[in-house]
Amino acid sequence: MKVILHICCGVCAAGAAEVLLSENHRVTGYFYNPNIYPYAEYQRRLDTAVKVAAQLDFPIEAGQYDSDNWMVDAEPFKNEPEGGQRCLLCYRIRLQNTYNFMLSQNADAFTTTLTIGPSKSAARINEIGQTIGGDKFLPRDFKKKDGFKRAIARSNQWQLYRQNYCGCVYSVRGNAT
Ligand code: SF4
Repeated sequence: MKVILHICCGVCAAGAAEVLLSENHRVTGYFYNPNIYPYAEYQRRLDTAVKVAAQLDFPIEAGQYDSDNWMVDAEPFKNEPEGGQRCLLCYRIRLQNTYNFMLSQNADAFTTTLTIGPSKSAARINEIGQTIGGDKFLPRDFKKKDGFKRAIARSNQWQLYRQNYCGCVYSVRGNAT
């Protein structure tokens, strides 16, 4: 199947893309993360994702960095804790855009690297993906079977940049990933 893999960062891409490629899917990476603050950090994570795509030999594209719109949408939830309503909105924004990209590419399915994060609920992410895309969304939990550990091993092997906060300006203070 031709699968669009939403990529949040290079390290997570390394773990998730390897799984999809091992299942013989044709993977196209899609880096869409208007949540990332500041822009220099966004660029650094994008560069790392491109490096991983080159290592694993799959194409990758970047969506628009429409951070102003993201900030307007997220502002009412700025005091939410990590994993709360702001994060659910953030997942939805990114997965909706990825679904639209999948349609534009005539791909068969889409999924996301987000479920590899140790502190992220795969159940909630999968529920949002399925609400948006129905059976076009591949529900996964890439952290299973030591997925996160394998991603870290790849990041050491390939000397990838690893951030110490999730992405948005609000998570800089919390340092969650
Ligand atoms: S903490 Fe992470 S998932 Fe939650 S809103 Fe910020 S960037 Fe998005």
